[in-house]
Amino acid sequence: MGHADKTKPPATRSGLRPPPHEPRDAHRHEGSLEVEHAIKVSDVVKAYPLGTGEFIAVDHIDLDITPGEFVAIIGRSGSGKTTLLNLLAGIDRATSGSIHAAGSDLGRLSESGLAGWRGHNVGLVFQFFQLLPTLTVVENVMLPMDFVKKIPLAERRDRAQELLSRVGVGDQADKLPTTLSGGQQQRAAIARALANDPSLLLADEPTGNLDSHTAEAVLELFAELNSEGRTIVVVTHERDIRSIVGREVTLMDGRIVTDESVSAGAVR
Ligand code: ADP
Ligand code: MG
Repeated sequence: MGHADKTKPPATRSGLRPPPHEPRDAHRHEGSLEVEHAIKVSDVVKAYPLGTGEFIAVDHIDLDITPGEFVAIIGRSGSGKTTLLNLLAGIDRATSGSIHAAGSDLGRLSESGLAGWRGHNVGLVFQFFQLLPTLTVVENVMLPMDFVKKIPLAERRDRAQELLSRVGVGDQADKLPTTLSGGQQQRAAIARALANDPSLLLADEPTGNLDSHTAEAVLELFAELNSEGRTIVVVTHERDIRSIVGREVTLMDGRIVTDESVSAGAVR
């Protein structure tokens, strides 16, 4: 299938109208040395308080991810995958070490700075979709646009509709999320993740609640989004993820035990 040829510069993402300004790159040069990385995790520890002591969920991790990579994070339940992904998303803060992502040093951002950074730069996809049940599907996709205010107000509904069409659920736009199948809800959630045209997509077991056929289709969609130049990190249990991603990182007890390039896109 048409997986990204990493030697080619990424094509324009999304095929939709570009946002009026390009804030994605606006602060990319601020930190000077971090330009080469989409994500740079340096000696990161995440410790949770536990009774008298603490539990180390992420244990001195170093991880560099370059722009346009498609990385799978695998490992047993409890190995620290969600903790690591939440750190990358700025949902949680590292106990020590540093995380640079999409041009910012996350540890240096305030809570509101972090929320703004995330809104501009990160699309998040979860196992249980997390669409708001009282809003229609298209309203769910508009929500991050309303929060970030990068897409002009007058364009938001059309853009949301286009994104839904793009991921294959354009005809579900005016329904409430719970009336959709799991696969359709996850597609809608991916459209929502793309709302502000983020450079980084982070997904935590996005296929964990889908049947295997639907799961494969969702992973194909991620591959397509990656081929447009988006950096993607996906936590997954899928056995056949190797045929889609370019790199597989295995966690065990909060540490990286293997970090392998895998030949993505060769077959399928
Ligand atoms: P995975 O996603 O790989 O299943 P997690 O990152 O969710 O693993 O969890 C890693 C470890 O950290 C687990 O042992 C879990 O119990 C522990 N953990 C996760 N969140 C918390 C928390 N808020 N407080 C205490 N321990 C936690
Ligand atoms: Mg998890």
